[in-house]
Amino acid sequence: MKSTLSDNGRRLSGPTGIHQLMHDLGAALESGGPDAVMMGGGNPAHVPGADALWRGRMQEILAEPGTFETMLGDYDGPQGRRRFIETFAAFLRRTCGYEVGPENIAVTSSSQTACFLLFNLLAGEDHASHTRRRVLLPLVPEYIGYSDQILAENPFRAVKPRIDTPTAHRFKYHIDFDALTLTDDIAALCLSRPTNPSANVVGDDELARLADLAVEHDRLLIVDNAYGLPFPGILFTPVRPAPWNANVVLTFSLSKLGLPGTRTGVVVAAPEIIHRLASANAVLALANGSVGQAITEPLFANGGIERLCAEHIGPFYRERCRTALQWMDELLEGVDYRVHEPEGAFFLWLWLPGLPISDRELYLRLKARGVVVVPGSYFFYGLEEEFPHRDECLRISYGQPLEKLRRGFEILADEIRRARSETGHRRAP
Ligand code: PLP
Repeated sequence: MKSTLSDNGRRLSGPTGIHQLMHDLGAALESGGPDAVMMGGGNPAHVPGADALWRGRMQEILAEPGTFETMLGDYDGPQGRRRFIETFAAFLRRTCGYEVGPENIAVTSSSQTACFLLFNLLAGEDHASHTRRRVLLPLVPEYIGYSDQILAENPFRAVKPRIDTPTAHRFKYHIDFDALTLTDDIAALCLSRPTNPSANVVGDDELARLADLAVEHDRLLIVDNAYGLPFPGILFTPVRPAPWNANVVLTFSLSKLGLPGTRTGVVVAAPEIIHRLASANAVLALANGSVGQAITEPLFANGGIERLCAEHIGPFYRERCRTALQWMDELLEGVDYRVHEPEGAFFLWLWLPGLPISDRELYLRLKARGVVVVPGSYFFYGLEEEFPHRDECLRISYGQPLEKLRRGFEILADEIRRARSETGHRRAP
């Protein structure tokens, strides 16, 4: 079979780092049974207020004559449901002040799909101009889900962060603008805000600077708002929504509102990009799933999404984050560790400077004790230089029920103490 695969076939079907890791995480969960502590995944928590809202909306859809039948029985247009797109544009005008209309909005089958389509529209071989274009990550670590999405060789270039250490056990990444160069091969810049995995939120000033650079060099800036503004608002630091103009592409997702099963993403961009995305949607899947759009459309119109975020989703994760951080500080007392300032999303990003074992070795040891986290080095793709920091970090999700989380943190702290007590050089990953 292998010899019959195309280059793209090989790229898509692996083995890719992300696939191996997801497979390993799934297997660890299955073999660990009910006692496994899964702090590895990106699944949103079941926030009670959100679950109740979605159940209520399904009941309304079932009760309205014709709505249920249309939702399940009709293909939408490839750009998305007309009514959803119009409502979504009005929602963004109202909440973010963006001057956008339906011509600026395209629905996709998840924001993962949105990124796949955008990246492959922009990056890769361009025989017409004899160039091979890449995507620039202005700051790594960055979302692992992008890493194998571009159907081209070596498609990312990444810039190391500037690291601030405000207090003994905290740190924060910033974009190193001195190291950021927009060479001719760069088609677009991309970042998630808040960032998965680090829980960093690139500040308003830094983002404005990136947007200015994009305009100045006529490139696109893709900002992935899966956790951000205006929804789901999993943010613990006051920032403004990303700036928007014709050089900026914004991606949104219904997943972290508690609807990952609907696989719904939304892209906001200049009409030409929207037009191309709609064409790509048609090629890929004819149309998108309608369920997420049908469930949320009235809530984007009547303020329900803002209330859900302000009253349920934001407070739930803020409280979780506070508890997780408190436990981390308590259990690691006396140990050399730093946590990235948790400014959003639902991860703690732990840095263990000078750890004698690699992040992957620590991951394996934790897995053997039924605790699953994600080794940090996966998130540093696209770097062209050495960076020891990459092998010293772990991503820990805190959406699990609290009793489990506590047990996971205790085992984590115990393994870190053991590893810290070992001497010698770090083993090769
Ligand atoms: N972007 C980021 C930063 C994410 O963390 C995720 C999922 O975890 C996605 C995009 C993909 O979300 P979706 O479920 O819409 O594909």
